Amino acid sequence: ARQLVKIYRNGAEQLKVLDNVSIKVNKGDFIAILGPSGSGKSTLMNILGCLDTPTAGQYYLDGVDVLKASDNELADMRNQKIGFIFQKFNLLPRLTAEQNVMLPLLYRGMAEEAARQLAREKLTILGLGDRLQHRPNELSGGQQQRVAIARAIVGSPQLLLADEPTGNLDSKSSGDAMEIFKELNRRGNTIVIITHDIEVAEQVKKIVYLRDGKIYEN
Ligand code: ATP
Ligand code: MG
Repeated sequence: ARQLVKIYRNGAEQLKVLDNVSIKVNKGDFIAILGPSGSGKSTLMNILGCLDTPTAGQYYLDGVDVLKASDNELADMRNQKIGFIFQKFNLLPRLTAEQNVMLPLLYRGMAEEAARQLAREKLTILGLGDRLQHRPNELSGGQQQRVAIARAIVGSPQLLLADEPTGNLDSKSSGDAMEIFKELNRRGNTIVIITHDIEVAEQVKKIVYLRDGKIYEN
């Protein structure tokens, strides 16, 4: 991503959240983005995940010019290549834990039984083997977060974007989640993680800081 600018407009008010941010993520990277609340971390993540567009700048993902791509191309890219863990989980309330985790696999065309098998496997690894049929509102915050993690990693996405994935987890669950991310990364998958947790940040390969709309590397 080069020279990204993001300006939010509310009526006459303007807020420049990203001020010429450039960031290069290589295949196999494991990068943490740190920065104070409101510094634009989620905004940047949404742009990198092709969910939002910058006010100005350029963004290429796997050689594709994202800002010129059609909605269909973008949807394909998200479905095939990107796993997303949202800060607010974004689980579908009417679906069970298992069904939420199956979704990305079904989007990719996997048969239902195969998808169910994989979803159960991942949820069990994350300690939710006894919560497969619960809906999000029947789960604790940390359990919902673990469902969101399972959903994001179930398809072994080439690029995992994780927005405070351990923010609601105790240190044991947080450590388990980090082990899963590290294993994914060892297999060559690329990970960008937003975190406030120093213990999490200490385990990644590279840290970048976002402050006052700008990126700083150590
Ligand atoms: P946190 O650590 O609290 O999650 P963040 O670094 O992820 O913060 P963002 O969510 O990217 O911060 O928000 C950056 C700034 O942009 C904040 O001041 C926020 O209020 C503002 N903002 C975010 N989304 C919008 C929007 N859709 N419209 C207007 N302003 C927005
Ligand atoms: Mg945020």
